[in-house]
Amino acid sequence: MQEKIENTAEESEEKFRKLAEKTFVGIYIIQDDVFKYVNPKFAEIFEYEIDEVIDKLGPFDLTLPADRKIVKENISKRLLNEIESLQYEFRGRTKTGRTINIEVYGSRMTYLGKSAIIGSLLDITKRKLSETMLLMLSEAVKQSSASILIADPEGKIEYVNPKFEEISGYPAAEVIGESAKIFITENLSDELYGSIFEKLKSGISWSGELQHKKKNGELYWVHCASSAVRNAEGEIVHFVSNEEEITELKKSETLLKEAKKKAEEMNRLKTVFLANMSHELRTPMIGILGYAESLYNELSGTDLSEMAGIILKSGNHLMETLNLILDLSRIEANRLDIQLKEFNVSNIVLDVVKLFSVAAKEKSLVLNTVIKDSKISALVDRRMFSQIIQNLAANAIKYTTKGEISVEVNKALIENKEFVEVKVRDTGIGIPPESISKIFEPFRQVSEGLNRSYQGTGLGLTITKRFVEMMNGKITVESTLGRGSVFSVYLPAVKSAPQSEKKEKELRREYHPGRVIYVAAEKKSAYAAPAPDLSNLPDVLLVENDNPSIGIITLYLQNLCKVDVAKDGMTAVEMAAEKNYKAILMDIDLGFGMNGLEAAKRIKSLHQYVNTPIIAVTAYALIGDKEKFLAEGCTHYIAKPFTKDELQNLVSQVLG
Ligand code: ADP
Repeated sequence: MQEKIENTAEESEEKFRKLAEKTFVGIYIIQDDVFKYVNPKFAEIFEYEIDEVIDKLGPFDLTLPADRKIVKENISKRLLNEIESLQYEFRGRTKTGRTINIEVYGSRMTYLGKSAIIGSLLDITKRKLSETMLLMLSEAVKQSSASILIADPEGKIEYVNPKFEEISGYPAAEVIGESAKIFITENLSDELYGSIFEKLKSGISWSGELQHKKKNGELYWVHCASSAVRNAEGEIVHFVSNEEEITELKKSETLLKEAKKKAEEMNRLKTVFLANMSHELRTPMIGILGYAESLYNELSGTDLSEMAGIILKSGNHLMETLNLILDLSRIEANRLDIQLKEFNVSNIVLDVVKLFSVAAKEKSLVLNTVIKDSKISALVDRRMFSQIIQNLAANAIKYTTKGEISVEVNKALIENKEFVEVKVRDTGIGIPPESISKIFEPFRQVSEGLNRSYQGTGLGLTITKRFVEMMNGKITVESTLGRGSVFSVYLPAVKSAPQSEKKEKELRREYHPGRVIYVAAEKKSAYAAPAPDLSNLPDVLLVENDNPSIGIITLYLQNLCKVDVAKDGMTAVEMAAEKNYKAILMDIDLGFGMNGLEAAKRIKSLHQYVNTPIIAVTAYALIGDKEKFLAEGCTHYIAKPFTKDELQNLVSQVLG
């Protein structure tokens, strides 16, 4: 009997041991504040070996100090027989010092004749973490500034957050259980709703703009992002939608679109205005500048010549200002065409500086060009580059009363890249430090207002800077008040050999026929030559309705060809049919009736004119105009106003 009892006890202890060794819960026995037994899982949870715990550590050794009090109380409650068994949570500390969350279930027992506690525990750290996470997320959803809706797989609303209630005006209780279709509006049709829902059901997320209806019927726009939530088996269990109200945004978007349309229209008008202004201002300039130049030469040595010279100078000034305004407007209307080609910059600089020799002499200023490297080339737009040097040199002379202007060309290495460096140095009035940044802004001058000390538009440096930047360069300025200024332009250098001079000359003509500084330096009489024998000169037809232009062109061409004039398109076509002209000079805007392009086309269709050169002579000098005229039947182009040389060169070239 005794043996049987012992056997049974042994058996049940064996069973307990097996169970304790295999189970996923930690098991322990505590007596006299020391662990008398722990199972392998218990040791694993606290990161100890079993024999490091048994008889060596007590429950407080495995408890976070802050939680020791609860643990102690709970243990003594059970030992004092107050409570048989107890379940609670505390924070434990592992051998490596990690904090873990423990859920424990302990009961009183008698062990080896003495009172003890037997218990089991679980590491619930992960569960705790996800519980906290869940709490955080649900708080975030509640606090979210976006409306959040959760629906079941049938599309019935299960949850809405407070923001949704606020925006839609629906209390949660009124929409839960309803289909999201309650929001259907003109812009969220049944079909659209259906197609979104189909997408979501097939697992595709959807985002886009939708219009909803508030409880009070008011419409509002949202940006909505919806997707499906699946369970562990991959089945769709919910749909979640996140909606941001964008009604105000939509409104300003519409306003912006309208404003953009208006601005584009204004800009188009500006371009048209620009083209017309250019034409209207250039046409009379041809008469003013042309006749002033002729008179100046013709009346050489008299008082009247001086007057003509002043008209010429003032006319040039007007032309320059007009060109500056046009340039800025072109830049702003994005109509500035840039053609980067390789040029020897020293040659251009020399050419440009030459134009200022008279102006410098008049102010008794020394004007030097210092070429430190004559072979250096850069990728530039010839006209823009010349204009930059012109603007800087003109300013240097304008703002200097005594001393020297020097223009230097050199190579510069900046961050391992080669640049062409052009420095325009003067010993002039200088620029106060606080004005340095404003001089590059449109219409800004150091001295402004009614008492300003210098005339000017305040556009030169603005355009200069834009030009430099368009050519991938940089402009800097250093200045000392009362001592002088240095403007430095840097443009990316090119290593290979420069183009031939001839090609440059051609390009120059092609580039900017309209802008030449008229230097009233050389005095030659247009009438000085003996009257030539006109009988052998080729016949040329001039189609032009502006009398001053007719006068000046016939004057300029008198030694080159016999000029017949037609004042309108129809007459031009008739005259062309009767005589065989060697070339035709065609104004484009002929006032009433047929325009120049139409006339050119008709003349071209006459068999004898298939190969005859037709030169467009026009004040339409905006970028793109030339290309247009050439594409529509003209073979050459010259912009008004032009110099005598320019017109003569072109006509001689055309007549061979
Ligand atoms: P404008 O010369 O027509 O006024 P700019 O844009 O060329 O216009 O120049 C803007 C201003 O910068 C000038 O009004 C002048 O005050 C100042 N400035 C330009 N170049 C110089 C210079 N070389 N020396 C002193 N001041 C200068």
